[in-house]
Amino acid sequence: MINIISNNDVKSRETSQILTSKLIDKGFQTFYKYNHNAELNICIGGDGAFLRAVRKNNFPKIPFVGINTGSLGFFQEICPKEIDDFIFRYLNNDYSTDTISLVEAKIFTDQKEYTLTAVNEISIKGTESKVIHLDVYIDDNHLETFAGDGLIVSTPVGSTAYNLSTGGSVVYPSLNVLQLTPIAAINSQAYRSLLNSSIIPGNLVIKLVPTLRYKNSTLILVDGDELLLKNINSIKLSFSNKIINRIIFNKSRYWEHLKGKFL
Ligand code: NAP
Repeated sequence: MINIISNNDVKSRETSQILTSKLIDKGFQTFYKYNHNAELNICIGGDGAFLRAVRKNNFPKIPFVGINTGSLGFFQEICPKEIDDFIFRYLNNDYSTDTISLVEAKIFTDQKEYTLTAVNEISIKGTESKVIHLDVYIDDNHLETFAGDGLIVSTPVGSTAYNLSTGGSVVYPSLNVLQLTPIAAINSQAYRSLLNSSIIPGNLVIKLVPTLRYKNSTLILVDGDELLLKNINSIKLSFSNKIINRIIFNKSRYWEHLKGKFL
């Protein structure tokens, strides 16, 4: 039993039809409505489609594999012309399964506590493009009072996304680290913020405390989706207990993708 999760683009819908008929020919049952007993999730689209599929289905344990019909498709392992080879290798168990670590934010407000989970990153920004001021603690050690557009806390797989565009480093997916990356940090006589990203061991907690003025004007972005919560006292970021699994056919493809898609 295989779930096929496609976005609505013409190319994705065509690919989805071709894939479905090839899988049925090989004796698989396919589902467009998410089946929790499936053995595999095949996501058709780009990275955006993959992120939505994971979040919409609440970070399922069923492994994912992606077919790229999007514009970048860094997460997506296969391209449409490789479908036959993919089915052949899947049937012959010729693949490995990798886990993807997720980042979690616990947000403490005057009223209640919220938990949010992301694949790529959780970013903290000011509303209306205002400068935000945040006290940054690593395991309760005060590091800086940040001033700037915002801070990104990225997972290793998210390191090639928003993190990379803001000057962060590429982190190999199996490394157990989070990356704290400033967005347009201010470093002047008035404010002192680190201008570069910091790589934080995965067992430490990053705590961000909006200074009083920003308690009601702090935006939280979870894989790009905006959320505005009121009366925020602090935000604690760490690795989540949740993980997702994905199928890998070729470990070297990471480096091929990095070169091919970014250089
Ligand atoms: P989106 O349009 O869905 O994605 C923006 C671009 O980021 C797309 O080209 C997407 O690839 C690519 N992308 C997503 N995850 C990636 C990853 N792990 N590695 C490499 N590239 C990746 O934008 P959105 O809906 O606002 O947010 C989704 C993600 O986009 C966020 O999690 C954030 O990381 C990223 N983003 C980047 C910037 C920036 O670089 N300035 C700004 C905002 C958001 P596809 O074309 O294959 O979908």
